[in-house]
Amino acid sequence: MNQPEDQSKGFFIMYGESIKALQDELVAIMGVALAKSIMFRFGFKCGNMSAREMNIKGQGAQVVEYFKEIWLELGLADPVSIKQRSGKTNLKVERTLEVSFDGKYGCDFTRGYISGLMSTITGIPQHCLETKCVAKGDKMCEFVLEEKPGK
Ligand SMILES: [Zn+2]
Repeated sequence: MNQPEDQSKGFFIMYGESIKALQDELVAIMGVALAKSIMFRFGFKCGNMSAREMNIKGQGAQVVEYFKEIWLELGLADPVSIKQRSGKTNLKVERTLEVSFDGKYGCDFTRGYISGLMSTITGIPQHCLETKCVAKGDKMCEFVLEEKPGK
């Protein structure tokens, strides 16, 4: 039986509430703005590591297919739609991890995860904004990824 190349990196499963605990601690220690930034950066690292562990690379329509497959397995949010046009990717999701625990600061971990995952798959830095969020009263969360080559 084939074993993964490097098992020393380890792997464990966390409950979604762990993300809430981390967010709560960061907000208490450093305030909302810095906590949001760190949640994004932590999400980015997690997305980056996932793509590297799965060793997936791609461009264009292939990226969308990879993303759909991976996203269904992750449990970070339910996908509604993903569309690509001229270097931008528009992603609509329902029930993000953060919204599942009434995250009132927006979905920064999920936003970072999407950015890290897509940047690593494409090899091009992907800036990610959450343009709509259930936490702000929108019907679903919407993320816009934009390629930022050379940064
Ligand atoms: Zn959201």
